[in-house]
Amino acid sequence: MTFDLSALPEFRGKMMKNAALAPYTWFRVGGTADMLVLPADIEDLQTVLKALPTEVPVTVLGVGSNTIVRDGGIEGVVIRLMGKYWGDIRREGDRSLTARAGALDLSVAKAAAREGLSGLSFLSGIPGSIGGAVRTNAGCYGHELSDVVTAVDGVTRTGDLVRLSRDEIGFSYRHTDFPSDIIVTELHLRGETGGDPEILAEEIAAHQKRRAETQPIKDKTGGSTFANPDPPGTSDARSSWKLIDAAGCRGLKVGGAMVSEKHCNFLINTGDATAADIEALGELVRARVLDHSGVDLRWEIRRIGRLQAG
Ligand SMILES: Cc1cc2nc3c(=O)[nH]c(=O)nc-3n(C[C@H](O)[C@H](O)[C@H](O)COP(=O)(O)OP(=O)(O)OC[C@H]3O[C@@H](n4cnc5c(N)ncnc54)[C@H](O)[C@@H]3O)c2cc1C
Repeated sequence: MTFDLSALPEFRGKMMKNAALAPYTWFRVGGTADMLVLPADIEDLQTVLKALPTEVPVTVLGVGSNTIVRDGGIEGVVIRLMGKYWGDIRREGDRSLTARAGALDLSVAKAAAREGLSGLSFLSGIPGSIGGAVRTNAGCYGHELSDVVTAVDGVTRTGDLVRLSRDEIGFSYRHTDFPSDIIVTELHLRGETGGDPEILAEEIAAHQKRRAETQPIKDKTGGSTFANPDPPGTSDARSSWKLIDAAGCRGLKVGGAMVSEKHCNFLINTGDATAADIEALGELVRARVLDHSGVDLRWEIRRIGRLQAG
């Protein structure tokens, strides 16, 4: 498939052919994108999408904290929304905060705290971008994106602007029915007014301390590998890490990939893992859990791209 974006004089962002994607993911593995595009702003994003023939696949990457890019890389165009413009967060009205898709969840939590808006501190526990968070209905400590999102703005594959209300997103546990051809550009979030900025900042610090104590956040990882089989609130809910531990997988290795000793629902790249090692390890864990407890774990981490270079 051939496409040429070089003849777009109005484009102001960056484009890189055969760009390595490993540096753009937390696991630090994976192949190249045929073309990596970093649009400067929303008009730039629209320009690219309008110019690209519709048969060219487009993949959007946040900060890659929930994604394994496979070793064969990604066909077509990979879009990443990064830089000052895409990280913008602003107060809008009494209870609302608007964040562009590239803003880090932690930055959104901190901005809400500064504004005295409560109910958004949980975001500080999720190390991704807010665009990735809404797409996956990310959550922690009993809260998830669906609790705080009021609307999402985006751009379609053909470059048109759209707005989806909360109810059109189809939120469920760590999942949405979000149309796969829409790139999120901006989120509208709601908090509760009257929060004390100092107390909210303390809440954020406490979340971060708890994270560092219980998760391998300094390792090359992708967060919880498998969704818990039972959604939160279910009585006698089973957790993936307990099933993995009971199946004897803590510390299990395939090549350079290892099940974290600290939290066994996390896989880590110990240094020289390939994406294939990490995925094979995940499948080995799934097989052992199925054999031990009869539970068929569902991948929470996104695995994208070609298995081998074509
Ligand atoms: C140490 C660690 C701890 C974690 N803890 C949690 C946790 O407690 N709770 C939790 O829910 N997750 C957790 N995660 C997983 C991850 O942080 C979240 O899923 C996060 O929301 C992913 O955001 P991202 O920007 O990294 O998305 P990516 O991994 O880059 O992408 C995830 C998905 O979102 C899509 N996407 C990204 N940006 C956009 C956009 N602008 N428009 C449309 N689609 C987009 C991608 O195409 C992909 O399908 C953790 C991860 C790590 C590494």
